[in-house]
Amino acid sequence: MLSCFPSHFLPIFGRKCDCVMRYERKLRVLPKCLHCGEKIRYGRTDKKFCCEECRMQHHNEQARDSRAFRRRVLSQLSSNYNLLSMVLQTGADSILLADIVSMGFVPGVVTSYSRTGKHDEFGCFDIKYRMTATKLSSIIKIQNVSLNLHADLDSE
Ligand SMILES: [Zn+2]
Repeated sequence: MLSCFPSHFLPIFGRKCDCVMRYERKLRVLPKCLHCGEKIRYGRTDKKFCCEECRMQHHNEQARDSRAFRRRVLSQLSSNYNLLSMVLQTGADSILLADIVSMGFVPGVVTSYSRTGKHDEFGCFDIKYRMTATKLSSIIKIQNVSLNLHADLDSE
């Protein structure tokens, strides 16, 4: 402590003494590695990873999470599609939302949505239906479905 006064610079070497440098290092808020959480002590202040391995692992994990998410959505779409097909096979074109949800239908997973007049019309691939807070109705399988997705987008 006494060695720091009166000047914070050691006159002989013309540089800051060790305790001032330690203090300044403590003051600087070091960014943390987005992968391992370690403080990043070297490099630019906007550096996000402590090393190349962490950077690669982080990006690999993100890609893996993204693939897993897509797989879950596709799986749920497939499940929704099977349930809607089942309703159609019974000859009905409507079902209570609570009933189909109890079978595993997830209302928020759809492949299309449009507002036609007063109705919210949803799609699960080539099956279209209207959905309210309590009911799915006008369930219909579109015949001769076209894969011209751009034409669909243009018509809106
Ligand atoms: Zn790291």
